[in-house]
Amino acid sequence: MKIGIPKEIKNNENRVGMTPAGVYELVNLGHTVYVQSTAGEGSGFFDDIYQEVGAIILETIQEVYISSDMIVKVKEPIEEEYALIQPQQIVFTYFHFASSEALTLAMLKSNAVCIAYETVEDDDGTLPLLTPMSEVAGRMAIQQGAKYLEKPIKGRGILLGGVPGVSPGKVLILGAGVVGVQAAKMAAGLGAHVTIMDVNMKRLRYVNDIMPSHVVTEYSSVYNIRKHIQTHDLIIGGVLLKGGKAPKLITRDMLKLMRPGTVLVDVAVDQGGCIETTKATTHEDPTFIIDDIVHYCVANMPGAVPYTSTLALTNVTLPYVLKLANKGWAEACAEDTALQKGLNIVGGEIVYNEINDAFDWGV
Ligand code: NAD
Repeated sequence: MKIGIPKEIKNNENRVGMTPAGVYELVNLGHTVYVQSTAGEGSGFFDDIYQEVGAIILETIQEVYISSDMIVKVKEPIEEEYALIQPQQIVFTYFHFASSEALTLAMLKSNAVCIAYETVEDDDGTLPLLTPMSEVAGRMAIQQGAKYLEKPIKGRGILLGGVPGVSPGKVLILGAGVVGVQAAKMAAGLGAHVTIMDVNMKRLRYVNDIMPSHVVTEYSSVYNIRKHIQTHDLIIGGVLLKGGKAPKLITRDMLKLMRPGTVLVDVAVDQGGCIETTKATTHEDPTFIIDDIVHYCVANMPGAVPYTSTLALTNVTLPYVLKLANKGWAEACAEDTALQKGLNIVGGEIVYNEINDAFDWGV
């Protein structure tokens, strides 16, 4: 198969869909890999390293799309890329269709086979291709939140860990999934007081078992959320309804209950956000303020740490890329139920129900 690795063109996105290690495996199996010139540079992989393992370097993104049976990338195609996608081409990447009607309509029109990293699902309900990026984003959420709590960036002026004689800051985490647990771990490591909420009691039991005693669990109810947002300094949104839009757990009127300078980091922004006032921001301009509350809503947080993120992502995508390349999408998905769940749009049809639900198309 001919596999294309385009350079990401989304703002500040320095990750790349495949490392030289992945190219090496594919080329050894007899596949052809086209890598767009400088695609890996932001992650520390230069063209000559790709060439050494057998990749063919192409100058333009157009050449990569036109030459390839399968495109492997990181972020969802942005508007400039819509027209590049070829009929029947496999596009294996994050799509997050539920948060973009425009992207969904464009991919329906393209007649491509869109396999979304974020809905590939193991038998136990875990999402193996979302997990590593959630791990990165969860850990980063505390790093970023701690920074924006500083006064010059309009935060409350609180040092999360406190100092001897001064209480530590308080972190509220909505969702005890991958993002939530990694965020809790980092916040606890800094010495902050952490409250983590979920509607899944199994997750809360797990967190309660593994975390130190300054991480407390609470059931996620409107009442409990309204109570805790009044006393916590940093609030992390890490909820997920698989493939669907995130529930709005913090509504606009609730901002008035928070203290000025409270920082909200809505990691769930890529699924529409779990805070009503969330709107996606970029690494260049990551925050905005509403009612004196600092919002950080960067939709591609791991893009800021591309060295770590590219390796973490490609560790888990490569086995699926190999299956798709060796067998074609139909056979690979028929044999692998986890990969089959990644099929979102095939030849102009939505095959993942939650996408229709997200747009209320009455289907
Ligand atoms: P996950 O499935 O591991 O965890 C989500 C948790 O939310 C689950 O435990 C679920 O029970 C819980 N939940 C659902 N409804 C809830 C409610 N009403 N109250 C409290 N908890 C509730 O998902 P994850 O991997 O941790 O991802 C979380 C979000 O972060 C997703 O939207 C994901 O796409 C996003 N994400 C964003 C970035 C970024 O750069 N912004 C990066 C990675 C992941």
